[in-house]
Amino acid sequence: MRVGILGGGQLGRMLALAGHPLGVRCTVLDPSDEPCAGQVCSHIRGEFDDYQALFKLVQVSDVVTYEFENVPVESARWLADRVTVFPPPLALEVSQDRLVEKKFLQSLGVPTPPFAAVDSREEFDSAVREIGLPAVLKTRRFGYDGKGQTVFRTPAEAGAAWEKLGGRPLILEGFVPFDRELSVIAVRSKNGEVVCYPLIENEHRDGILHRSIAPATEVGEELTERSHDFAARILNELNYVGVLTVEWFQDGPRLLANEMAPRVHNSGHWSIEGSQTSQFENHLRAICGWPLGIADVVGCSAMFNYIGEVPETESVLKLPNAHLHNYGKAHRPGRKVGHVTFRAGSHEELLKLIEPG
Ligand code: AMP
Repeated sequence: MRVGILGGGQLGRMLALAGHPLGVRCTVLDPSDEPCAGQVCSHIRGEFDDYQALFKLVQVSDVVTYEFENVPVESARWLADRVTVFPPPLALEVSQDRLVEKKFLQSLGVPTPPFAAVDSREEFDSAVREIGLPAVLKTRRFGYDGKGQTVFRTPAEAGAAWEKLGGRPLILEGFVPFDRELSVIAVRSKNGEVVCYPLIENEHRDGILHRSIAPATEVGEELTERSHDFAARILNELNYVGVLTVEWFQDGPRLLANEMAPRVHNSGHWSIEGSQTSQFENHLRAICGWPLGIADVVGCSAMFNYIGEVPETESVLKLPNAHLHNYGKAHRPGRKVGHVTFRAGSHEELLKLIEPG
């Protein structure tokens, strides 16, 4: 099987690595000269709207997928006229626009923070009155890792938030005083089978994922089942094939959807060592039309991102139960360059490993 991937970052790299044992040959399309996925699979250099490059990808692919959601929808649709594309381009379209996404989730009965569309100063003022403070003003498109958004708590700060972001299509959301952030990763096959991973507990620093623990600590069966039911509704509605991630705010017993990503996800990296089948393998199984793998966990895992630099290999490998992933990227501040996953038999053992003393 030959899989084309739009995007050649670490997610593309880990997809290609998961494909090797299955005999899946991947090719990534990426505008950079040396994307990190290009170290482990073929690379076509080109922009995502370069139709000659897209055509080259069609020629070497039985199925095309994406590793990030800001691929132009027109390119995905153009590809879908020529080769099988999974997940469906509609999933990209929905997740690229926070307003469309929230309305879509709402239509399926998936709870979200309160929100309102904001296209003018008048709409902004009335949305603030309706939703109340504190609130979060976000751009509808191209926001990631906390970029393109601002939290404000007072009417004076509201003016500053508008000054900062006004003039673009925006969404105003009520600020959720969440206890913690969770995510769920689910995969759907061509014949409609859905398999879900357990709820994952995520901690962010400076807007970037710092740590994920899977399964999440002290999470009841009821919450897990609810998150799985919501994920299945989204997958089925989109006639989705592949891995989908939904990020949640947990506020007491409430689960509110923050956003969804139509792809494998950073909060699922632990699944390489911590699950019977990794998210990467399951994504490939789904899009290649193969049976899905069991998503049961193997013990408890904690994943930490390396941002900016990866520590010296020896210093990580000498830690008990540490599994190092170095993406082979040049070190640069703020860049995700690697991660480490610790696995243990229980949450108690895991916490001793990662928070010794
Ligand atoms: P996002 O880019 O939408 O994933 O937001 C980045 C981070 O900002 C989230 O992981 C949350 O920590 C925080 N955040 C976003 N929206 C809200 C909200 N409505 N209420 C509280 N915190 C939020």
